Amino acid sequence: MKEQWIKIDPHVHSKAISRCSHVTCEQIIEEKIRMGYGGAILTNHCQAWYYPESEHKAYVEEVLADFQRGKAYAETKGFRFYLGLEVSLMQPHYADWLLYGITEEFLRNTPCLYTLSQKELFELCQESGVLLIQAHPYRQTPGDPAYMHGVEINCSDGDLDKIPLVETFAAEHGLLVTCGTDYHAPSRTYHGGIYVPAWCETAADIAKYMREEGEIRVFYGGTEKSFSIKV
Ligand SMILES: [Zn+2]
Ligand SMILES: [Zn+2]
Repeated sequence: MKEQWIKIDPHVHSKAISRCSHVTCEQIIEEKIRMGYGGAILTNHCQAWYYPESEHKAYVEEVLADFQRGKAYAETKGFRFYLGLEVSLMQPHYADWLLYGITEEFLRNTPCLYTLSQKELFELCQESGVLLIQAHPYRQTPGDPAYMHGVEINCSDGDLDKIPLVETFAAEHGLLVTCGTDYHAPSRTYHGGIYVPAWCETAADIAKYMREEGEIRVFYGGTEKSFSIKV
């Protein structure tokens, strides 16, 4: 049987959690459907300047509540809405990290993620089958390739010229390549993302697919590419 594929944007932010976002989950879903997507991964920010470490558990509940509202809305539209997170780490240097494959249990049972080093976060992800992908690695500096699963081609206007750098870094270090738009506002109309098979019901399914297939099909602008790697 021919595999069915869904186009998703695996990097979107909703304003209930991400202060830099101008859109609700509902608006994201409407806009992405209009642009021809079948799904999105909600990757709200987890950052030290949002809340003190002692409030991490409460923050996680807010993240989950916003996701659940979005997911309920998505279901009425036949749209896939997946749980993710974007964690900003300060060790060994400032960088943003997308977590693909997290569950509610993972978020509730892990320590305050932004306090970890890249190596510590990677090890935690490894134990739980979560993929750690550096978001827009050339907006800052690429992290240690030994402690990540992949890097992101970011479709923000200011990041398009960095695509060759991302591809070269991934090829040199045997890393996955994903692609997302870092969607924050309706004005951000750039079309980019990845294809996932229709059997992926949860973010954990997407991580399993990426890990086991070792092949990710990305699209941005009019370009489509495939990257193959086992991590
Ligand atoms: Zn943001
Ligand atoms: Zn982001």
